[in-house]
Amino acid sequence: MQFVKQSFSQLPLHYRTIFLGVLASLLLVSCQPDQHALLETDTLQPEEQEILHYLSENGYHTDAVEFLEDFVVYEDDAGWDKAALLQTIRGGYAPIVPIDPDDPTLVPLHGRERQRGVRESNYLDAVNQVRIKNLRYFINNTLFNHCGQDWVAVYHDAAHEWNDIPHCQVKLTPTIVRSHANIIIGSDSDSSFPAGHQDLSSGLIARAGFPSNGVPWKWISVNDSADSWNSKLKTAMHEFGHCLGYRHTGTSDGQHIHGTDHVDSESIMNTGVYTSSAFPVGDVRAARLYYPERLITPTGISVTKIGDGMVRFRYRNMSHISRPYYWVRVYKYTPGGMLLDYRDFQSITSSGGTHAIYWPGHGSGEFRFSARAYNFRRDIYSSATSKYLVNL
Ligand SMILES: [Zn+2]
Repeated sequence: MQFVKQSFSQLPLHYRTIFLGVLASLLLVSCQPDQHALLETDTLQPEEQEILHYLSENGYHTDAVEFLEDFVVYEDDAGWDKAALLQTIRGGYAPIVPIDPDDPTLVPLHGRERQRGVRESNYLDAVNQVRIKNLRYFINNTLFNHCGQDWVAVYHDAAHEWNDIPHCQVKLTPTIVRSHANIIIGSDSDSSFPAGHQDLSSGLIARAGFPSNGVPWKWISVNDSADSWNSKLKTAMHEFGHCLGYRHTGTSDGQHIHGTDHVDSESIMNTGVYTSSAFPVGDVRAARLYYPERLITPTGISVTKIGDGMVRFRYRNMSHISRPYYWVRVYKYTPGGMLLDYRDFQSITSSGGTHAIYWPGHGSGEFRFSARAYNFRRDIYSSATSKYLVNL
């Protein structure tokens, strides 16, 4: 930190400009996955092979994976606790119900999907609703001592930015008691941090991780040589975003969050050089789909037979902008109201908030159907609608 600061101030102005340009380029490329050397897989430990196999099967770029002693780095500035990831891989947290996305032959899928979150099959990796509204962060004095007061200030500002998203439950408040903290922030030379968070490479500004089993990632370390980085606030918002389950925008891993743009250079979850520290529309939607305050009951229901064994279930979300649904769970009953089955569908609503779900494979006879709206993790939900009768 000192070296950079003193050398920099002694340079003539035009050299400083060049230096900043080079520095920006270095910081930009440091986030690109293709900068990583391919892993020498035959030198990996068996459990590392197991992790790599799992990540490969789940669409991650294995050349963006790096193994540290207790941490699995993904795309440089994020990753997983190794033990927690192994627990997930070995079957600790299977989904409760299968996911049935809309049949693409029946419903045109929207192409405007951008923001990345945890994969649907790992939806428990989002932070649970009990914790999300009472997240406490602790700023260790190493952040001030090694990185400077500016970094301390921007983490408080970043918490406010997250807290100020309307219709979103995220609430980050500072604590002065380290043992009470859900997230601890310090410098990368903080010896109390896990090894994976220490001694970040020179092009890397900060590092966080992803949630596990409903718990946010606990650590954010900031490179102690990043004092000249001019997008501190956006970086702080970005690292909090990782701790809450959001991956890098514009990559092909993780999960598309429906209804968000595929390309959005303004997203705080974009890698590279940041110019703005405001959440664009897609980020706000992603925050509301994961962590909504509450969801209202679907309205405008119609249940129709449209072919042999095929039901079309239409509904409307009256508040689809401010309180979007991630899932709609459709329940199937006997005419007398006994539950027979249910399925979860992504709620990809039109500009008017309506959506039609197609559920095939029913036998003939009379059945009732109802629905309930859910957030991504399925721990925040609306009341169920009435049960509507249809003759199949
Ligand atoms: Zn990142």
